[in-house]
Amino acid sequence: MKDNNLMDKLVSLCKRRGFIFHGSEVYGGLANTWDYGPLGVELKNNIKSFWWKTVVNNRSDIFGLDAAILMHPDVWKASGHAQNFTDNLVDCKNCKKRFKLDDLKNKKCPECGGELTDTKKFNLMLETHLGPVDDSASRVYLRPETAQGIFVNFLNVLNAMRPKLPFGIAQIGKAFRNEITPGNFTFRTREFEQMEIEYFVLPEDAEKFHKEWIDRRFSWYKDLGIKKENLRLRVHEKDELAHYAKGCTDIEYKFPFGWSELEGVANRGDFDLKQHTEHSAKVFEYFDTVKNEKITPYIIEPSGGVDRTVLAVLADSYHEEKIKDEIRVVLKLDKKLAPTKVAVLPLLKKNSDIVKMSHAITDDLSTCFTVKYNDTASIGKLYRRQDEVGTPYCVTVDVDSLTDKKVTVRDRDTMAQDRVGIENLKNYLFEEFV
Ligand code: ATP
Repeated sequence: MKDNNLMDKLVSLCKRRGFIFHGSEVYGGLANTWDYGPLGVELKNNIKSFWWKTVVNNRSDIFGLDAAILMHPDVWKASGHAQNFTDNLVDCKNCKKRFKLDDLKNKKCPECGGELTDTKKFNLMLETHLGPVDDSASRVYLRPETAQGIFVNFLNVLNAMRPKLPFGIAQIGKAFRNEITPGNFTFRTREFEQMEIEYFVLPEDAEKFHKEWIDRRFSWYKDLGIKKENLRLRVHEKDELAHYAKGCTDIEYKFPFGWSELEGVANRGDFDLKQHTEHSAKVFEYFDTVKNEKITPYIIEPSGGVDRTVLAVLADSYHEEKIKDEIRVVLKLDKKLAPTKVAVLPLLKKNSDIVKMSHAITDDLSTCFTVKYNDTASIGKLYRRQDEVGTPYCVTVDVDSLTDKKVTVRDRDTMAQDRVGIENLKNYLFEEFV
């Protein structure tokens, strides 16, 4: 399959089957905004919960946080965003299109070859104002990263939880950037979600933990079911690094449009805490009981994008196979990510006993799994729809079920069918989901 073809097929499947819709579509759409539909929100939530479980719930050294999107404007002075979070922008004098200077190979317009204007600095933070008066005093920014919410709560978490180094704070939340060149579906948008960990360590341990987190985060993407050959690490060159950063390695995915960043794992040194010590009324330090002195911890930051992960998971699991003269489209999603775990399908929706039995099975299974009952089409069509949305198991109730009290369980990937006693169905599925 040609890769841009794959992108078109994904966008179309996402809309057709309720994963992702174009934002504000009935008003002509708002460019580069996307709404997650009934299945998309489940997939996204499953990814976020797996992240939360891995980095917060399964560890005793990392604490969760959910900080406000709107922050004091001084935060962005301390972080450097107010001064430096800029892109170099040029306009074409001829066709008036706007470009990011970094994306251009030469000094001509890539669309029409026209002459370009001088470079302008463009701050990527999105601005709004608080309260009824729109003046400079009321102006605030929608956070361009979730990280600063973590840094400003460093002392709160330290005092409330009393952790020893190394420890971390993690959060998932929306971030906003007024990107000049959004695009590639949900890959680059102006409103997106991040999953970030700030891991505080002794300065002398920073390199060791940086390496550990790169490996750990790379494995996490494999644990999502993403194929190893579609993942790689890219170490940042010295000239790519922010002036304070000691090192950064990106985890990249081979998207249909090329290798691109899913997550950056950076060693940020003591820059962030020192900046907040300088700009706020507090001292962002930690008392090291071994050395008997106050230190400013170094920070290792694994910072990933939820939307990019959803897109990578969708692209990686999209699969087509030829069966007789037909193409079967299957999303071979890892079972833990599948929006629906089990679909219950009555073979004959006109037979009220079959329908009743199907509903009873749906209710019973729903206590343990995400289950959907569906009788809106013929069984062939229903199987095809469930394959397309990655449902691992379909349970079909037929006339024989009424007497032998058994149902057919169909496996998404192999299409193998198993006859299973209703009494044993829950246990059977439990074992399949292990
Ligand atoms: P890029 O180089 O692609 O602009 P970045 O290096 O600026 O990304 P970071 O500031 O490291 O990104 O943000 C951490 C993560 O947040 C990225 O790895 C990505 O997954 C996600 N992210 C950043 N910007 C966007 C965006 N505009 N749309 C969607 N996700 C984004």
